[in-house]
Amino acid sequence: MHTRIWPYPFKSHAVIHHGLFRSGPTYFLPSGRNYDNIRFAWWNAPLIIGLHAPVLLWIGWVLETNIFFGGMAALGLYYFLYEYLHFCMHVPKGRWLERSAWFSWLDAHHHQHHERHFKNLNVVLPLADLIFGTLIRGNRRIPRPLRA
Ligand SMILES: [Zn+2]
Ligand SMILES: [Zn+2]
Repeated sequence: MHTRIWPYPFKSHAVIHHGLFRSGPTYFLPSGRNYDNIRFAWWNAPLIIGLHAPVLLWIGWVLETNIFFGGMAALGLYYFLYEYLHFCMHVPKGRWLERSAWFSWLDAHHHQHHERHFKNLNVVLPLADLIFGTLIRGNRRIPRPLRA
């Protein structure tokens, strides 16, 4: 989503999402704006999850066990968590989740991504950031704006 290899995700994320949501107070959705550029387009879910299906089938074939349905369920859960947590980060409403230490850490982690686009690329589980050396400390969680 941050390289021009495939134009659609680059435009929708790096150009539009990062263009609208920056760091500091502009990290949050301004009042009166719609939610269109926070979540992925609806058709991204079946496409992204579906692209993983052959990999799950291949792993199941190699391991000689059926991991397909469990794997698809895990991918669906991960996708849902990405969409929901990312939405809560940009549109805070004082949800109980937002008060948890875990969410605060993830939110600061993602805010850092909006400051430095090639760091902290994971939203839900920053394991790949750790492995690929893109993990940096999310050192500040900015207070959510007052909303009506
Ligand atoms: Zn974001
Ligand atoms: Zn990004």
